[in-house]
Amino acid sequence: MSGEKPARPGPEAMKRMVQLLQQGAVMLAETCPICGLPLFRLKNGEVVCPIHGRVVIVSSDEEEREVHIDEAVKLAEYQAALRVQSALESGEPEEVVRWLNVIEAAERIRKLREERASSRGEAPGRVGRGG
Ligand SMILES: [Zn+2]
Repeated sequence: MSGEKPARPGPEAMKRMVQLLQQGAVMLAETCPICGLPLFRLKNGEVVCPIHGRVVIVSSDEEEREVHIDEAVKLAEYQAALRVQSALESGEPEEVVRWLNVIEAAERIRKLREERASSRGEAPGRVGRGG
């Protein structure tokens, strides 16, 4: 008896999985880094999750964690955008402001992470050209 429940596909995911198989996709041993469902390889070679669509398979644990964080931030931004929209429609300015703050925070985190990622990739020492 393990504490963590294995990912159980909901009815929507099941439907998608069946569709993918019908399209000739192959179920892989790898699982989605976001939801833990099995990934499928399409005929064109693309690897997709039944829920999240195209996902990136990473090898190292660190990379996997990074992808998790990126996806979570993106998801938060997206979900917040949806809330803003529905709050606008139902005329709830407080909710609009609340979710806009979430979007702003998510954007800030994303930019910071992008900066960090690019400074890691490029040669260090862009500042101070000497002289
Ligand atoms: Zn997924």
